[in-house]
Amino acid sequence: MDQAYINGLWEKIKASIRTFREEAFRLGSYFFSIPETGFHEEMTARGICDCLEKWQIPCEKNLALHGVRCSFAGREEGYHVVIIADIDALLIQKDGKPTAFHSCGHSIQTVVLLNMIHAFAETKIMEQIPGRISFFFIPAEEFIEIEERKKMKAAGLIRAISGKQHLIAEGYFDDADAVLSCHVMNPDPRRPRLFFDVGTSLTGFLHKRIEFRGKDAHTGVAPHLGRNALHGASLSLNAIQMLKDTFPPEAELKLYPILSEGGGTSVNTIPSHAVLETYLRARDRKSLAEISGKLDVLFESCARALELGCSITTMPGYLPFIQDPALVKLAAERVEELCGELSLGENAWVLNETSGASGDHGDLSAIVPVLQLGFTGITGRVHSDEFSISDPVNAYENSALLLSGIALDLLLRPEKQIRYPDREQRKQAYLHDWLAGQDS
Ligand SMILES: [Zn+2]
Ligand SMILES: [Zn+2]
Repeated sequence: MDQAYINGLWEKIKASIRTFREEAFRLGSYFFSIPETGFHEEMTARGICDCLEKWQIPCEKNLALHGVRCSFAGREEGYHVVIIADIDALLIQKDGKPTAFHSCGHSIQTVVLLNMIHAFAETKIMEQIPGRISFFFIPAEEFIEIEERKKMKAAGLIRAISGKQHLIAEGYFDDADAVLSCHVMNPDPRRPRLFFDVGTSLTGFLHKRIEFRGKDAHTGVAPHLGRNALHGASLSLNAIQMLKDTFPPEAELKLYPILSEGGGTSVNTIPSHAVLETYLRARDRKSLAEISGKLDVLFESCARALELGCSITTMPGYLPFIQDPALVKLAAERVEELCGELSLGENAWVLNETSGASGDHGDLSAIVPVLQLGFTGITGRVHSDEFSISDPVNAYENSALLLSGIALDLLLRPEKQIRYPDREQRKQAYLHDWLAGQDS
């Protein structure tokens, strides 16, 4: 396909998105004001559906409980691009209580998709080109409220702890050729003129829960007759700091356990119950397995030394996320082009960095080519109560412009249409070797 023709279509989409600016900002404020944690996104889903209804765009609802999907078919069959947004919020402490808050920027992604849907509908571009573009609003990216989700899973409401994991298992990505997404970046004061990242990889993680069981006893009369579960947790925390030193930096091990239960109820009684919980993050699956095994030995040894009982549960979290190199290359071309057009200056974007964060995009990337474009536009820190949106044009608009350009390239340039021919084998391997671990 002639590149000038593709660029002409991109210009039409850009014009539509730029005209939508005020409405995008209004929607941004609205969705930011109604944060809901994963699998509870009722108001968010209603807000999305209200927009689609107003624009007369049919959609499927209630996917992974509150997910929404709509699709535009092209003039003939072809490549299928799926653009996804996370829609859930996190919990922060407010007035001493856990309170939902959009501190990971998922409300921005929601608006980026609405922005794109409006533009594709308004320009009717798909009527002129082959293939299909779908937009998927997906619940529950943050791996939190795990005990509650385990109960929902046992009750058959969800098949996995995260939204994308559930949707993969239910077959909702079986017909996707490529998946495109975006995510806000943590502000970096050393790089104030940075606007985008392309190709950043994320770590994978396991979730571990370690229960120490002891015996209670009077702390004054006969402490020696008790067995102190808090000591088991405390000894383990110290030992973990030393064990960390035995892994090379390239494993990118990150381990920050919390005492999530127990540790004592009465100050005059030896605590008989303590629970440590942690994510274990690392760069690849081999490192995750190796470190997990060593940690199990550590917890069991600490417990045995203090004559405590110990139970360990290890659950798969998210796979490491490696972005598809062909998609990264394509995205880099469009990012370079837009940065030039907007005169964003030198070093406005970075390529192939690594991040210690994790996401369920990692799981998707094991099955289908995935791209996640990073964009700046906030102040404060991601996952903190200081998170606020400070550059709405970059956040809501430029991200939508870029994802649209990349999608058009994929739909119209057959030489760029990568596919994983062994997708079904990849999915079966993922379900059996990784996700099945959430069942035990
Ligand atoms: Zn997050
Ligand atoms: Zn996030």
